[in-house]
Amino acid sequence: MIEKNCSLKAFNSFSIDAYAHRLFHFQKISQLPELLDLIKVTKAAKQPILVLGGGSNTLFCEDFSGLVIKVELMGVNKSEDAQHHRLKVAAGEDWPQLVENTVEQGINGLENLALIPGVVGAAPVQNIGAYGVELKDFCESVDYVDLIDGELKTLTNEDCLFAYRDSIFKGDLKDRALITSVSLKLPKLWKPLCRYGLLEALNETADSVTALQIFDNVCRIRSEKLPDPAILGNAGSFFKNPIVSEHLSGQLLSHHADMPHYPQADGSVKLAAGWLIDQCGLKGHQIGGAAVHTEQALVLVNNGGATAYDVVQLAAFVREQVLQKFAVLLEHEVRFIDANGETTLQQVIDNV
Ligand SMILES: Cc1cc2nc3c(=O)[nH]c(=O)nc-3n(C[C@H](O)[C@H](O)[C@H](O)COP(=O)(O)OP(=O)(O)OC[C@H]3O[C@@H](n4cnc5c(N)ncnc54)[C@H](O)[C@@H]3O)c2cc1C
Repeated sequence: MIEKNCSLKAFNSFSIDAYAHRLFHFQKISQLPELLDLIKVTKAAKQPILVLGGGSNTLFCEDFSGLVIKVELMGVNKSEDAQHHRLKVAAGEDWPQLVENTVEQGINGLENLALIPGVVGAAPVQNIGAYGVELKDFCESVDYVDLIDGELKTLTNEDCLFAYRDSIFKGDLKDRALITSVSLKLPKLWKPLCRYGLLEALNETADSVTALQIFDNVCRIRSEKLPDPAILGNAGSFFKNPIVSEHLSGQLLSHHADMPHYPQADGSVKLAAGWLIDQCGLKGHQIGGAAVHTEQALVLVNNGGATAYDVVQLAAFVREQVLQKFAVLLEHEVRFIDANGETTLQQVIDNV
């Protein structure tokens, strides 16, 4: 189904009031020939194309001048062998619902990734992660339509080049791959992982800890910590946790001994973006209708009626304050979309 001049307000978790020139609801694989024709026409008119899931990691900076493909493919196929459960999940399935269903059915492994908003097809794009687990730990393969030649293709886990909040879908296959399904492989021999954040209260070495307990704790902690986009528009963590040199980390630690820091295998050090923003005294800082969340500094929120430009100005201010105080340049995790496709905070600022 195609809609013209379609409001995107309900399709992005920031609730930004932007419009798409055209929007196609991709609900069945049998619509593929129609979709490929539409893509051809759009490309011939030199208009941009955007693949959209739940819009929970997307900031529409302007009305979109081309075709938005909203992926709404549904279905879950389950199989198992002696060692593993396997799930082939269509890209439009809701991720939080999938996690809840698997835990309820005694299929363990995804519980640390509970309540991450969005659809399954977006999960490999930034290799979603939380509480020490990432999608890459359970993703066996990803099926996609190649928007250049129209072919259906499959990538193995290794082919996806998963890294921290990164994958081939943000690199060589950006604007080229429309993910149709994700195949997950979950070992039946389950090991709890409770080493991160407030989950430490659970003892992962105890035989009694269950996946349901971890799921319940993750849901409780996230609900307490993060604003619900249905009530207060936001896109979760706005910035990535920066990875800096050991030297810079050491310098910062000499002035801020309590700074959270996580040494990486390659010698670099990951810092906590939320802590850096909080140290700049920015919790609650507001520009127009956009504000730094009062409880969680890493989250920028729409306090009601925020324009995309309010969010952009606030993000630029936060980035500048952190740069001045810590000499660390924050990179945004949220995908910025302007009239012609993906852009960056810096490009939006430069174009004003
Ligand atoms: C309250 C809150 C908490 C969050 N917590 C976390 C967290 O703990 N960990 C984490 O990793 N993320 C977190 N996020 C970010 C977000 O949930 C994830 O990035 C999620 O995967 C986005 O899914 P989506 O369907 O909304 O993607 P969208 O915003 O619709 O799209 C995100 C990107 O994926 C692309 N994309 C979407 N679907 C497809 C497809 N089928 N094929 C190809 N490309 C596609 C889009 O083009 C876009 O570039 C949080 C967000 C919110 C609002």
